[in-house]
Amino acid sequence: MCGIVGYIGEPINLDKVKLTVESLEYRGYDSVGIVGLKDGNVIYFDKNIGKIQTLFESKPKDMKMDTWLAHTRWATRGDVTKENAHPHTDCSGNIYVIHNGDFSLEYKKIRKTLEEEGHKFTSNTDTEVIAHLIEKYSKETDFLEACIKSGKELGGYFAVSIINIDRPDEIIAMKRGEPPLLIGRGEKQNVVASDTRVIALYTDTFTSMEDGDVAVIKKDSIEIFNSGKKIERDFTHIDIEDMVRDKGELLPNIIKEIISGGGIID
Ligand code: GLU
Repeated sequence: MCGIVGYIGEPINLDKVKLTVESLEYRGYDSVGIVGLKDGNVIYFDKNIGKIQTLFESKPKDMKMDTWLAHTRWATRGDVTKENAHPHTDCSGNIYVIHNGDFSLEYKKIRKTLEEEGHKFTSNTDTEVIAHLIEKYSKETDFLEACIKSGKELGGYFAVSIINIDRPDEIIAMKRGEPPLLIGRGEKQNVVASDTRVIALYTDTFTSMEDGDVAVIKKDSIEIFNSGKKIERDFTHIDIEDMVRDKGELLPNIIKEIISGGGIID
């Protein structure tokens, strides 16, 4: 059961990013990866097999990011290798995708067509196919439409989050079928994640994306669309004390610290 998280908002330091990714650790994973932006530039892109902590070891502690995606992978299409870890990118290296789930087996055929059209792949995951498909369609239509069209064409079930460095003020999130995807609404920061325990590190207000939802998440706004229409979804509160009661020992210490500290950490 892999985990995904995307953040956009006020710059936060690397320790907080690490803590956030660690809160997905309990779900199990074989590899991990991250892409981080500051002021529209990629300042951190790394992935590897093994522990989350190794990703952060050699990075300067004062590094801050205002937009980032991180992923803990549980391989389903493609072996456990560094190349297959997420995020995956298109040929230009502008589009970054993280994914929980499986696209339909059509992905193999779609990949073959893309290769014939000149796209160069660096992994053998299903996930990389959507990065190249979005690249292709974004030359024909606007970026959001390209994401929606690519998700529809690939089918299967997925929770996906996407950053395009040509549009650094937004994260696109798409959900189809089972994989969970929640959006947390904070103060000048919004977050998308597989799990409320990630959201709780930033805000106690969230909504669950529903089948077919596509969201455009910016620092100060969240827009959700489904079947071409804008949807108003209710946001609810995470009951952190309930989380402690329900999940007991499984709950990471950090959430317990938030409770004992009486609030969300910076
Ligand atoms: N199918 C994707 C892969 O194998 C995502 C797996 C996952 O949900 O971690 O890379």
